Amino acid sequence: MVEYTKLSVKKELMDKIQRFIDDYPEHGYRSLAQFVEDAARRRAEELNVFELTPRFEHFNVYENSVVIVDRKLGAHANAVTLRVQQVGERGFKLHCQRCGSTKCEHVLYATTVPEVMTHFEELGGVYKGEYGEE
Ligand SMILES: [Zn+2]
Repeated sequence: MVEYTKLSVKKELMDKIQRFIDDYPEHGYRSLAQFVEDAARRRAEELNVFELTPRFEHFNVYENSVVIVDRKLGAHANAVTLRVQQVGERGFKLHCQRCGSTKCEHVLYATTVPEVMTHFEELGGVYKGEYGEE
């Protein structure tokens, strides 16, 4: 089943386009919604929205690291490794090998993946980094 969503756009622009659709039926648009959907799809294709979204993806979890994919880095060499950094007796942070940081957007993403956090917590670690629950 196809679902639909509503959005608010400037009436002046929509009125102009509706007028165009009425005046130039040879372009084949039957409705304003059809025109707007076509325009959005063309722009999304220009920006590679379908290839680049979602930007981040969880790839794999290892004993002391996690690998995620960041599509913003391109189609190749887009894997980012986050190493577990021991904090105190039982705590840990994730250290991004690409950014050299424990609070970059890669770490932020990884802390939102339940599979990742559960894995390290099951190994006895308590997350002490910037993001996630305390
Ligand atoms: Zn990073």
